[in-house]
Amino acid sequence: TTTLKTPVTGPYEQPTGLFINNEWVEGVDKKTFEVINPSTEEVICSVSEATEKDVDIAVAAARKSFEGEWRKVTPQERGRLLYKLADIAEKNTDLLAAVESLDNGKSITMAKGDVGAVIGCLRYYAGYADKIEGKTIDTNPDTFAYTRSEPIGVCAQIIPWNFPLLMFAWKIGPALCTGNTIVMKTAEQTPLSALVFANFVKEAGFPAGVLNIISGFGKVAGAALSSHMDVDKIAFTGSTLIGRTIMKAAASSNLKKVTLELGGKSPNIVFDDADIEQTISWVNFGIYFNHGQCCCAGSRIYVQEGIYDKFIAAFKKRAEQNTVGDPFDNNTFQGPQISQLQYDRIMHYIEEGKKAGATCETGGERHGDKGYFIKPTIFSDVTPDMKIMQEEIFGPVCTVTKFKTEDEVVAAGNDSTYGLAAAVHTRDLNTAIRVSNNLRAGTVWVNQYNMLSHQLPFGGYKESGIGRELGEAALANYTQNKTVSMRLAGPLF
Ligand code: ADP
Repeated sequence: TTTLKTPVTGPYEQPTGLFINNEWVEGVDKKTFEVINPSTEEVICSVSEATEKDVDIAVAAARKSFEGEWRKVTPQERGRLLYKLADIAEKNTDLLAAVESLDNGKSITMAKGDVGAVIGCLRYYAGYADKIEGKTIDTNPDTFAYTRSEPIGVCAQIIPWNFPLLMFAWKIGPALCTGNTIVMKTAEQTPLSALVFANFVKEAGFPAGVLNIISGFGKVAGAALSSHMDVDKIAFTGSTLIGRTIMKAAASSNLKKVTLELGGKSPNIVFDDADIEQTISWVNFGIYFNHGQCCCAGSRIYVQEGIYDKFIAAFKKRAEQNTVGDPFDNNTFQGPQISQLQYDRIMHYIEEGKKAGATCETGGERHGDKGYFIKPTIFSDVTPDMKIMQEEIFGPVCTVTKFKTEDEVVAAGNDSTYGLAAAVHTRDLNTAIRVSNNLRAGTVWVNQYNMLSHQLPFGGYKESGIGRELGEAALANYTQNKTVSMRLAGPLF
């Protein structure tokens, strides 16, 4: 461990090793990498880097536990362990939130919200542990047949940096309540909060090897996990590009099961009859929440012609009021982007937009002179062929397009290779339901945005993913059916 300090918690002990078999170890090659504070661009600390050899060790630990001790743990006990983990996390909310803000740059208020959602998610899946059921199926009088819902086995889970702890919880909740074991690889940009969390896993009493947590890079540890011959399932959240790479690796190794939660370019549609004030707030939150670093960000905004001018003026004003700055200031809404690389990517898109002839209504430039801060940016006068209309920017940048008819906006909304989320703002119930039904997206929000719940399934249509996380739906990602069919009486012939 190393002693670190956050502005709100004072000194704390930050684990920096690999968490394998409930123990802290160094990597076999003793490699480390630096973790950067995105608000200051300074190094926070160094953590151990997992290489292929460490992945092998972690997978072996998960396998041993799956075949051994974890298998004998009752469903009730699995649930109890998850509840305990949630309780420990709750007691440590302030620390977890502070570490998240430090490492990721999200505002402390939002980070606390994330930790609350983590706890809710763990408790939700804790409750499912003893409700995983099969069926008896009557095929004929001489047969007794039933299905069992069994765990898949050793699951590799690869998560991104935008919600480090929340993505961690979305992944471990359903996997552990159904009886799997895990090798989790966090994102190289944000390993710290999961490492703090690892100590809670041991404290809660999970047997060794059930949940192994490693820090490392995608091309090394991530690739080793996706092509590993002894990993039964891989779950990934991140870019569509890497999702493809992972699926190929799974296909050409052992056909491990794959679930993917990928990118988006989600349409946010505002009809003339919408409550304009409320809508402006939701549209603003839809794109700028988490600094635009949400896979479901409402980045393509469509506004009906009757309120277009009024909307643009009000939205611009609202975006300019968003407080950008130090994540540890309680009044901050938007912190820095995660890294220099992301900062550069986003600024590149902004330049592309300007060059392509779009009008930059506000923002479009750096905020301050230290840290990866970008001002909330709005583009108008955009056309569907522009890169800023087609590609996921993953930053505080959106486009606003004027539309006339419902048919036209549904077609425009669906004109994307992605299909993660969408939203409709209207006072007309018929419009709301009709448009929601016609949008090809995994989630449609009506008169709100980004309102996720661990009770509701979340995932992508089209190239936004495979499978659904959260809700009861996520249990299917971590269970497989076994059919047992038993002869009761009489010879075959
Ligand atoms: P971003 O570009 O926003 O960082 P990525 O999709 O590249 O998003 O990263 C999300 C997660 O995927 C991270 O944990 C990263 O280390 C991992 N990753 C990146 N490349 C690969 C790869 N080739 N194989 C497996 N995992 C990868």
